[in-house]
Amino acid sequence: MAFGVDEKGKPMADNTCYEKLQSLKAKGCVQILGTERDGTKLRLFLPSEIEGLIPPEQIPEVLSIEEMDFFDIAENRPAILNREGNKCFYCRRVVDSSNYVIEHVASRPDGNNSYRNLVAACRNCNNRKGSTPAEDFLRGLYRECFLGSEEFEDRLAALELLRTGQLKPSLKVHQPG
Ligand SMILES: [Zn+2]
Repeated sequence: MAFGVDEKGKPMADNTCYEKLQSLKAKGCVQILGTERDGTKLRLFLPSEIEGLIPPEQIPEVLSIEEMDFFDIAENRPAILNREGNKCFYCRRVVDSSNYVIEHVASRPDGNNSYRNLVAACRNCNNRKGSTPAEDFLRGLYRECFLGSEEFEDRLAALELLRTGQLKPSLKVHQPG
């Protein structure tokens, strides 16, 4: 019995040993199987076998990307900017973490805060779009020559990819600010 009790270098006194064993038994750490001529037979329980000793493993709740909020949870927003390659989703103007806006493609309450309904945009587009359907807004940019015909087609295709969940933001990149 290595309990470090009693005087150093001397074996534990019998009665101390008995008390310690009874204490361990009371705590459910050992089971006294019986006393024989050679000594007492014990069954020693492993920590995992003792109920309530090891707290149940805390399984962190991991949301799937489909359940994640990329708008109200501010730390998720840069992932959208990163997905857009630091460009306004609509007009392709370069934006950065100091001047981008997270924009709802379908305005709330119709649209939610899913990555499928959020894009990074410049303030100008954000202010102008309002609740205009995204296709109509892109068409307006094309008519006003903010977008070339190829860019316009490219943006319509990107919109489709966005809605069908094919523009998943990378969750590893977290830019400061
Ligand atoms: Zn823009």
